[in-house]
Amino acid sequence: MPKQHIADLALFGGSPLYRPPISTSNLVRPDIEGFLSLLKPALNPAGETRLLHTLEQELAHFHEVPHCVAVCSGFWALVLAIQALALPGKQEVLMPSLTYRRLADVVAWTGLTPRFCEVDPQTLAISAATAKSQITANTALIIGVHPIVNCCDAQGLEALANAHGLPVLFDGVESVYETVQGKRVGGFGAAECFSFHASKLINGFEGGYITTRTAPLAEALRAARLPSSRNGMSASLPAAHAAMALQGLREVATQVAHNRAIYQRYVHTLANSPYFEVLRFSDTEQTSYKNIVVKIKPDWPFSRAHTLALFNAEGILSRVYYAPALHQKPMRYAHISQPLPHTEALAEQFMLMPSGYQVNEQHVEETIGFANWLASHAPDISSRLQEATA
Ligand SMILES: *Cc1c(COP(=O)(O)O)cnc(C)c1O
Repeated sequence: MPKQHIADLALFGGSPLYRPPISTSNLVRPDIEGFLSLLKPALNPAGETRLLHTLEQELAHFHEVPHCVAVCSGFWALVLAIQALALPGKQEVLMPSLTYRRLADVVAWTGLTPRFCEVDPQTLAISAATAKSQITANTALIIGVHPIVNCCDAQGLEALANAHGLPVLFDGVESVYETVQGKRVGGFGAAECFSFHASKLINGFEGGYITTRTAPLAEALRAARLPSSRNGMSASLPAAHAAMALQGLREVATQVAHNRAIYQRYVHTLANSPYFEVLRFSDTEQTSYKNIVVKIKPDWPFSRAHTLALFNAEGILSRVYYAPALHQKPMRYAHISQPLPHTEALAEQFMLMPSGYQVNEQHVEETIGFANWLASHAPDISSRLQEATA
């Protein structure tokens, strides 16, 4: 039910627009019969091994690489890949700060030290130019992270790494379906890591995988996911997760078509908006349109924190885009950073809007209609917000 008066706002005690809420997570529900028929034959050890093998083969084929190793999460995919790739005797792992909130934790888990670099303000990604100045004699590895919208300059980072004799690992979690200069993500660098978390393009409940062109690395990763490895923990992917992920992989084009319709609806509805600008996906690359990131324009009359409070109360689960940046967060482990002015400014500017399997085009229209309604009542709402915090 649309709002009539500001007292109708959920933040001020009215009933929320969405119950259940609409999310920024992908939350795909693949065909349940398909999932069950993949799972049933895998409920014994031989069947489980076959299912895992099929999943790894189909993923390798999808990413156009010879090898794929499935593991229990994106986090562990990164841990195992970092352990396998970091140069022995070196300590620093170079990474962007405007990125996934746990990326530095992953590095700290391996006993190495995160060293943060800037992002390119155009791509919001680490690039050869932003990474170069942070390479030292103690650099063990570069992690190139693909941002939420489009990809980082993977070839540029490969060339930089080669020139310095360094390995480069890509975090491809946000770019599963994408290409860089026509080449599918998955085959860049020494390896690339991915996730099957429910919030990602392919939902395996939870899980992850590593792709690589190198056979010995794939062998080492297969050994490292066993409980007998140096971590003493199993990083294996459970059969139910593998079945869910495989069904999701087989339906991925359908999900991308849905995401594309949502994206186009946002682009169309916000085309002349004085308030929000949609970050555009590339027209020349293949892309998944998974998340909608908007830049908040100066004419929008509320702070981002107030906007999120107003939206979230209504069940519109918008989120900040990678804020605070990693180097701005308190950390109990060693890390190296300098002031990162681009990153700090960019961390204030963006917001994720509802998207994914559970969101439809009507939700998009309603959400933007609601935002416009807020703007048209901005003075009243702002004074009410001030009272609330006074
Ligand atoms: C979600 C995410 C991960 C971690 O994946 P999990 O499976 O949740 O551990 C790593 N990198 C990026 C960029 C992510 O978005």
